Amino acid sequence: MLPTLPFDPSYVLIGGTWRPTADTLPLVNPSDGSALCEIARSSEADVDAAVTAAHSARDGAWCKMSALERGRCLTRLGQLVLEHTDLLTTLETLDVGKPATQARADAIALARYCEFYSGAADKVHGETIPYLDGYTVYTLREPHGVTGHIVPWNYPMQIIGRSVGAALAMGNACVLKPAEDACLTALMFAYLAKEAGFPDGALNVVPGLGSEAGAALARHPGVHHLSFTGSVQTGKTIQMLAAENVVPVTLELGGKSPQIVFEDADIDAALPFLVNAGLQNAGQTCSAASRILIHRRIYDTVAARMADAYRAKIIGPASNDPDIGPLISTKQKTRFETLLKAAHDLPCIAETPMPDDLPPNGAYVQPRLYGPVPSDHPMAQDELFGPVQVLIPFDTEEEAVKIANGTIYGLVAGVWTESGARQMRLAKALKTGQVFINNYGAGGGVELPFGGVGKSGHGREKGFEALYSFSILKTVAARHG
Ligand code: NAD
Repeated sequence: MLPTLPFDPSYVLIGGTWRPTADTLPLVNPSDGSALCEIARSSEADVDAAVTAAHSARDGAWCKMSALERGRCLTRLGQLVLEHTDLLTTLETLDVGKPATQARADAIALARYCEFYSGAADKVHGETIPYLDGYTVYTLREPHGVTGHIVPWNYPMQIIGRSVGAALAMGNACVLKPAEDACLTALMFAYLAKEAGFPDGALNVVPGLGSEAGAALARHPGVHHLSFTGSVQTGKTIQMLAAENVVPVTLELGGKSPQIVFEDADIDAALPFLVNAGLQNAGQTCSAASRILIHRRIYDTVAARMADAYRAKIIGPASNDPDIGPLISTKQKTRFETLLKAAHDLPCIAETPMPDDLPPNGAYVQPRLYGPVPSDHPMAQDELFGPVQVLIPFDTEEEAVKIANGTIYGLVAGVWTESGARQMRLAKALKTGQVFINNYGAGGGVELPFGGVGKSGHGREKGFEALYSFSILKTVAARHG
């Protein structure tokens, strides 16, 4: 059952006021299929009102706040997020079906983003540029104005933190469109932002369908920058809509990320990262390590140990805090199971046991480990967004790099080797936005710029890079003689 909330979850927050929409959508708990509540089905008019409110904030109180004061708002917001970690954890557990420990980690990451960007708000400098005699030239970093944030359901809190947190730090007014499958923590975040003292309209939240509220936000001529995380297909649509208004867009679109295990790797250290990076959040992670490339000399050992780990995992309702919860929805379950049919000709070497008492209407799927898998097989090329990994043997470093770079994606890669020279070579050779050496994900640090190449998208969020993305560089050239 949904805990009591300090706002009506079927409302939108526009210009600091909670208000109903003409229509609503049902929100479902994916752990058992039960109805949680109704949420807003924002229309084009609601989105337009949110953009207008954001403009008012940009032209009014929000615009007048100094970087220091913006930072202090974010400091208070981070503190409030920490104080409400239990509630945010419960909401994400119910809404996303995310096991409680993983949901709690997301809430703490959200607080960390607020802390990081609170401290960074007044530390983004322009520069002076030596120029002709009689001139003084300098640059200013200014906010875009109104930024649109279209967020998916897999890591709502983390993605809101990295994108809205950075945009607010730079003084943008934000319109946030959370996913229709998971929007409760977005609403709670907006409630806390109001409590933290952000002026009305600095952060507006309009839940609703992608094809309605999402598309209305992406094509709105009053939006000056778009940040999108989700599928490649929707990312393309959003880039085309952004092109109509000639506004910049940051796209984070997922991947088919490899971890490469060389024969000299510390297998004990690697093992938890190899498995958990595929199964965390039931595999619904853009940077999931869905391909494990293993040197042929150690292939059997690593495959056997990963298979044991799969068999030892526990599946269950998210509130029981298992290793693996359900997928986000029965729609995603159907999509995943359809894509998984491609594996019919592959050896499945391990499955996680499915308990008999799983709620029948939950969106559970069985985690599966396949190997050896040819690197050009659809299961080694397509993003399934579920708890499945493929093992790919290789013989040489050159071959490993070729396989790792051989998909349409390029989000992250992991390399396990004790050879320093090989570490350096691979860090350069891998065509991804992040390379992890003898780890995978580096604990998700908010400080670390993140984003992809190829069909994984473009632009960077997290770290200071996000502050540059969420601002415009203006050059001022003063001729004074
Ligand atoms: P999606 O891309 O359709 O949805 C993501 C967000 O975009 C949601 O907020 C949605 O409402 C919005 N959206 C959808 N259509 C839109 C449109 N036409 N205009 C504007 N906004 C729109 O993703 P999905 O259907 O929820 O999931 C499908 C697949 O996308 C997944 O299986 C997975 O492969 C991928 N995905 C990737 C990530 C990631 O982190 N990279 C996250 C979620 C989904």
